[in-house]
Amino acid sequence: MTERFSIAVFEGDGIGPEITGPTVDILTALAEKNGYGLDFQACPAGAAHYARTGEALPDRALQRARDADAILLSAMGLPSVRYPDGTEISPQIDLRKALTLFAGVRPVRLFPGLKTPLNLPPDRQVDFVLIRESTEGLFYTQGRGEVTEDEARETLLITRKISEQLFEFAFALARTRKATGRGRGQVTCVDKANVFRAFAFFRALFDAEAAKHPDLVADHAYVDATALWFVLKPWDFDVLVTENMFGDILSDLGAGLMGGLGVAPSADIGLDHAVFQPCHGSAPDIAGQGVANPMAMILSAAMMLDWLGLRHKRARLVEDGRLLRQAVEEVIGTGTHLTRDMGGRATTQTAARAVRDLVLSR
Ligand code: ATP
Repeated sequence: MTERFSIAVFEGDGIGPEITGPTVDILTALAEKNGYGLDFQACPAGAAHYARTGEALPDRALQRARDADAILLSAMGLPSVRYPDGTEISPQIDLRKALTLFAGVRPVRLFPGLKTPLNLPPDRQVDFVLIRESTEGLFYTQGRGEVTEDEARETLLITRKISEQLFEFAFALARTRKATGRGRGQVTCVDKANVFRAFAFFRALFDAEAAKHPDLVADHAYVDATALWFVLKPWDFDVLVTENMFGDILSDLGAGLMGGLGVAPSADIGLDHAVFQPCHGSAPDIAGQGVANPMAMILSAAMMLDWLGLRHKRARLVEDGRLLRQAVEEVIGTGTHLTRDMGGRATTQTAARAVRDLVLSR
């Protein structure tokens, strides 16, 4: 019997539906071709949904996400729709907390055709993964900070439990990358341990995990120096692991190195659940025009296949993840189906179609 996986789909706001449709089409065709099934469950949620119904993340959608084998999400939030306290609707952050998705995985990989602002020496490869802790850190009091007439306070929280899970995840990823020839088995802890006791604690927990992996290389870097090295010698990194706010900032810098948000994928992974979504937001400025770049969303879907395959020990899904990533890279490399943000004239549909045709031909 065909093995089937259920996928909760949050098509979200702005350009979300435009990039979700073609991505789901590619995944469906790939699964059909290669003998497994993907059952997509729509999860209405987000800013437009809140404006209509007063609910940003309905219980039904959250339950579907909990029940699914994996979650595919485009982008949620619209600057024009806000809660009464003025903050934006961001159910993706609520999902991270509700499902304890502590590891925000942000791959940064440079390949031909990307408009990187870097002037890379020809013999240098940039292919690293930034892991951003995604449930605590400086986001711990998000929406609950204390603000008086004269002062504002937020709390940074680092817990042993989440940090230990995070570091275990980081070393496991470095091991997988090394085994598949994509990394040299190095994990860098990014912190500010020279100034804050909380980061000295973070670093000590990292060192304890590192001691269990004598075959992998563990090192440390301060976050300010890391920002500099992202620009000056990004080829030096393999896996980096850091606190929530530091990771938030560094992951946008990473997307910048790749030449923009339209090609930067991500995943938020916990012990039992995982959400796959592009790094970009809902891009309301270009919504409805059919020009959104679908590549970050398709690359996120490729990460989903890889994760599902590893988790369920299905080599076919891991292979399909690799083929899908390769197809995106080839389409971008040939430069014939680039969307406007990459200097081309392709529509969302034609760019996605080029990836679909290529991956199905393999
Ligand atoms: P958020 O805070 O939700 O992450 P944001 O306000 O930082 O969102 P985005 O919605 O990501 O920003 O948009 C930033 C800029 O990048 C916009 O000009 C948008 O049009 C552009 N952009 C984002 N995603 C894409 C995409 N997939 N294709 C083309 N342009 C995009």
